[in-house]
Amino acid sequence: MDRKSFLKALAVLSLAGAAFKLKDLRKWSEDLGATDRMPVLFVGHGNPMNAIEDNRFSRQMKAIGKGLPTPKAILMVSAHWETKGTFVTAQEKPPTIHDFGGFPKALFDAQYPAPGSKWLAEETRATVTKTQVGLNDQWGFDHGCWSVTANMFPEANIPMIQLSLDRGQPPSYHYELAKELASLRKKGVLIIGSGNMVHNLRMVSLKSNDFNESHGYDWAIEANETFKKLILAGDHQPLINYSTLGKSVALSIPTPEHYLPMLYALALQEDKEGIELFNDDVVGGSASMTSFVELKICESLVV
Ligand code: ZN
Repeated sequence: MDRKSFLKALAVLSLAGAAFKLKDLRKWSEDLGATDRMPVLFVGHGNPMNAIEDNRFSRQMKAIGKGLPTPKAILMVSAHWETKGTFVTAQEKPPTIHDFGGFPKALFDAQYPAPGSKWLAEETRATVTKTQVGLNDQWGFDHGCWSVTANMFPEANIPMIQLSLDRGQPPSYHYELAKELASLRKKGVLIIGSGNMVHNLRMVSLKSNDFNESHGYDWAIEANETFKKLILAGDHQPLINYSTLGKSVALSIPTPEHYLPMLYALALQEDKEGIELFNDDVVGGSASMTSFVELKICESLVV
């Protein structure tokens, strides 16, 4: 995609979501002629039904997908793959994993047949020095992964791998490991973290039966605001040491797996890269859908 069509796609995107105003569009616009770095995403995946349902969140994911340059391959860090040690998926045809229960048959029937990427699996192994990255031929695409890409890349034709979360490692470890992935952005790799910054399933509460309805406990909204403020300020240390951020954050991160993918995206932010939020809302009382894209800002376009 050239710059002109990218800006055109962004214009469509600005119409699709109220969060994108013309001012933001101009500020956010990337001069693809001046950088060869792929953007980075953190996506709040939320309800698995977002994979197949037409709703405000899935529509915005689709709009973002259309606005992105076409990646050579995707590296996905999903909340739903935790391991002892660090692994990448290495199959040629990764299976679509339906790692949930109690949903309609249509969701279990859904497939995301994107190919794997031996190339990216090997590149990732070679790039990471912090630990030995193992190759895994058992895992495929879990719902944290394919519920996002089914919207952003519905043709399922971009090769993709997942990188696992090493269970038990502290947040700083994940942040530092993620920094090592930076060079992949210059090789056409789109890195996506998929989780939910605020995620406390034990406290889910629906005002109605609609999981897409805007509804958050005070503490969930407060934590979401705290995260956004720090993210937009580029103040990463408190986000890494989130256990010091107080009670609302503690309630929002009872376990770290849905929060950590956000740190991967954040760690990859480079100088002069801006962050734009999308799907910024709290649903089900205790889950935030707040997502962001980070990319180089074209200074000539900043107003
Ligand atoms: Zn999840």
